[in-house]
Amino acid sequence: MSKSIAIDGPAGAGKSTIAKIVAKKLEFIYVDTGAMYRAMALYMLKNNISAQDATGISATCESADITIKYENGEQVVYLNGENVNGMIRTEEVGNMASASSVNGDVRRKLVELQQKLAAETSVVMDGRDIGTVVLPNADLKVFLTASSKVRAERRYKELVAKGETCDINKIEADIIDRDHRDMTREISPLKQADDAILLDSSDMGIEEVADKIIELYNSKA
Ligand code: C5P
Repeated sequence: MSKSIAIDGPAGAGKSTIAKIVAKKLEFIYVDTGAMYRAMALYMLKNNISAQDATGISATCESADITIKYENGEQVVYLNGENVNGMIRTEEVGNMASASSVNGDVRRKLVELQQKLAAETSVVMDGRDIGTVVLPNADLKVFLTASSKVRAERRYKELVAKGETCDINKIEADIIDRDHRDMTREISPLKQADDAILLDSSDMGIEEVADKIIELYNSKA
């Protein structure tokens, strides 16, 4: 039977970096659900649908075919047959993903895809609602967080490394905004599952957090 580890938490807590390490060590597949919401957001932007247009978002998401493949150990997201990995990491797409992911039709479609992946293979899946909605019976649930200041600093360094110019205060303000939207939305808000273990990565190294998760998983297995 396939096994699963759910890692939820706010943007920039280190979920994807840590989930990738854990998946590699345990030989599980890493599933980045945020990338699916980002691909859907890209589709909305391409179709000039505004973040406020709930009816338009519901209607448009019907024709978005999102599929996940694994190429050289990396998750690749295809949107209507096109590899969009290189297009979904911008602030514009991230902000649109946060806005369009409040939509019930978008969530239904993507949750179904996520559950299908987890039924087929052992996964480390990260997102906002994995422990609460997508995989309520996960073998281990972790809620990974860090202060908004630390998260903004991490994001700032990532963007600078990519050669982008940005304002750290604006990044922190966006992070706080996005957290608020993710935590207060009506459907599947970001919240710690009752049986999730809380880890704060503000003062922990990446490897340290990954080792802790593996230790927790092994102690439950
Ligand atoms: O994790 P990432 O920043 O890539 O996710 C982008 C946006 O997608 C988040 O701000 C959140 O609103 C949404 N999301 C979600 N549920 C998930 C994963 C991401 O609502 N499971």
